[in-house]
Amino acid sequence: MRWSWKLGEIAGISIFVHATFLMLVGWVALSHWAVEHSVAAAVGGALFVLALFGCVVLHELGHALTARRYGVRTRDITLYPIGGVARLERIPEVPRQELLVALAGPAVNVVIAGALALLLLVGGGGVSLAELDVAKGPFLERLLLLNVFLAGFNLIPAFPMDGGRVLRALLATRLSFVRATELAASVGQAIAIVFGFVGLFTNPFLVFIALFVWLGASSESAMAQMRSAFNGLPVSRAMLTEFSVLAPGEPLSRAVELTLAGSQSEFPVVDGGRAVGVLRQADLLTGLSQRGPGSPVSECMNTDLEVLHPHEMLDDVFTRLQGREVRTLPVVRDGQLVGLVTPENLGEFLRFQAALSERGRS
Ligand SMILES: [Zn+2]
Repeated sequence: MRWSWKLGEIAGISIFVHATFLMLVGWVALSHWAVEHSVAAAVGGALFVLALFGCVVLHELGHALTARRYGVRTRDITLYPIGGVARLERIPEVPRQELLVALAGPAVNVVIAGALALLLLVGGGGVSLAELDVAKGPFLERLLLLNVFLAGFNLIPAFPMDGGRVLRALLATRLSFVRATELAASVGQAIAIVFGFVGLFTNPFLVFIALFVWLGASSESAMAQMRSAFNGLPVSRAMLTEFSVLAPGEPLSRAVELTLAGSQSEFPVVDGGRAVGVLRQADLLTGLSQRGPGSPVSECMNTDLEVLHPHEMLDDVFTRLQGREVRTLPVVRDGQLVGLVTPENLGEFLRFQAALSERGRS
């Protein structure tokens, strides 16, 4: 991922921060400076940003750990200016599960806000919502306000916010997944138009959010449409059947020859008919520079294999391909490699499907 830096790992999930997150940090720092003009305020501001950052990470962990309960792994968590994104490997199939995963994030902020309110009440300070301000006032009160904001903002029913997913999940209990996504995306785009219009006359930041929401809605509905184009079709219909393979003991130079001679860039590694790994171009390049062209393929191949069956449905496979590092999936029947599924091949398949349905209409 470009423009983001890895900060660490929690519960086996890598946490990244995106460069644009710093915009938010800058905004908070500036609003501090504008109010107080002192070093103490600046330090307080920095601490506040760290606390905010922690709350966003906890929010995303809420999603990730709830998803884990339903057997869905999370690739990583990235922090953006308008919140974090936990990249789940797939969307939970059951609408109720997607609903709970989506709600878990804002729920974390509600719990934090509740705990802070309790702390402030016990401390005798007394919380008056009318007096709360993000740029001034006691640290904990500001943190409380921010968590209320995080929960509220994320529940706006528009992709890519959690509220968009909540809406889709609720619609999907009555409609098909694609129809539910299209409807939720339309609601999101309507909200984006309102945000953009209001933002033009008030806050330019709102225009930026509107754009973000508009793009989120479009990409979500495009994904759902692609999934529906694959609906009901087996892997065997779209798999590659003419391709080169490598044996584990063959040298890397053989992979170089095959790459240059054809258009394949990822090679299945096959041992006695059985797929044991995939050699990606990145693996090949690293292997060549670190070990030399004579070293065996087995030492450089990626063994994080996900094997498909010819009768599996393409829409499931398409979802599983998203965000995977190894983009070539071996198709295996009775333990023998019979085909490959790659994103490029699925793309070609879709174009043919579209051309044929055009013909059907004319
Ligand atoms: Zn969220």
